[in-house]
Amino acid sequence: MNECKDIESLIPGYLEGRLEVGDARRLLAHLKACPDCRDEMEINFLLEEGIRRVESGETLNLDSELDKKLHATEETLLLLDRIRSGIYIVEGTAAFMIAACFLMLFLF
Ligand SMILES: [Zn+2]
Repeated sequence: MNECKDIESLIPGYLEGRLEVGDARRLLAHLKACPDCRDEMEINFLLEEGIRRVESGETLNLDSELDKKLHATEETLLLLDRIRSGIYIVEGTAAFMIAACFLMLFLF
């Protein structure tokens, strides 16, 4: 599949933490649906992280570490979405605070 080739080419960038948001989003969504690319990701993760850990003498629990990393990325993407829609919430909150201040002035 063409999409798999495309996704595979994003994996090294992901592990180095230099993917653009749109690419990271695409990668994560694809990994959930495609076991082949998930395997590819695990192999790359093992090579990248495993070698570093062996050098520093730490043990590596591959599955849970990769899950943690992918989960953290997902959280970051969700946070970005929330920040974007949060602009409106902040505006709403500001209006509420101003209204509350006026109310306090009149009441006390
Ligand atoms: Zn794939």
